[in-house]
Amino acid sequence: MLRGEEAPGYTDTPQLPNSRWKIHDQNRPQPVKTAPGQGDIGATPPSDAVILFDGTNLNEWKGKNLQVIENSIFDIKRTGTLQTKAKFGTCQLHIEWMTDGKREDRMHWGNSGVFFLDGSIEIQILESHDSYIYADGNAGAVYGQYPPLVNPARKPAEWQSFDIIFTAPKIEDGKQTRPAYVTVFYNGVLVQNNAELLGTTLHRTLPKTLQKETGSISLQEHGSSVKFRNIWVRPVSEPVL
Ligand code: MG
Repeated sequence: MLRGEEAPGYTDTPQLPNSRWKIHDQNRPQPVKTAPGQGDIGATPPSDAVILFDGTNLNEWKGKNLQVIENSIFDIKRTGTLQTKAKFGTCQLHIEWMTDGKREDRMHWGNSGVFFLDGSIEIQILESHDSYIYADGNAGAVYGQYPPLVNPARKPAEWQSFDIIFTAPKIEDGKQTRPAYVTVFYNGVLVQNNAELLGTTLHRTLPKTLQKETGSISLQEHGSSVKFRNIWVRPVSEPVL
């Protein structure tokens, strides 16, 4: 692992609120590697799930090239960024993804991401087994806010999974009255534990207050090959008090 000036990240970015770290802080500790178990891949959807991709078509998505499914898989480099047609607020999402076996530079190897609320919030996808960037930019990070608690990355060209519980913020009269929260299981391992989101996830820039309770879910095309399969989501209603 690189240290000092050679380490990926920054020392000239703004301080995160209520944190000892700066955004993409070069000195923020890297998550400790932990080998995942098995059983997270191939999770079949519950009967009330919205199927976003089962290998047959991308009818639930908007994007520039939706006819490029091969072997029941698509590559985000070919489809371009995808956005769900439907809007989602609080939800449970399952998604399987795979980075490329061919080494690229650290910022461009398997870079994609799962976004909530019309691109406001990114859970990072990146090759994080044979490569790494600043701690809050590795796979499973809330980008620029929270590194994954541990790093359970599988090898490049192996299937990996996210199970994400996203709790939408509450916005009343244009003001946020409850923050958003996110829990992430990465390859079945807890890497975000009901993390309170500081706002939008941005590069080198302080989070901005969230403005909406629902929005599309999107998958980022960042010039990298990342393959996807088995994507489903369950909208979750607020508890009745
Ligand atoms: Mg990304």
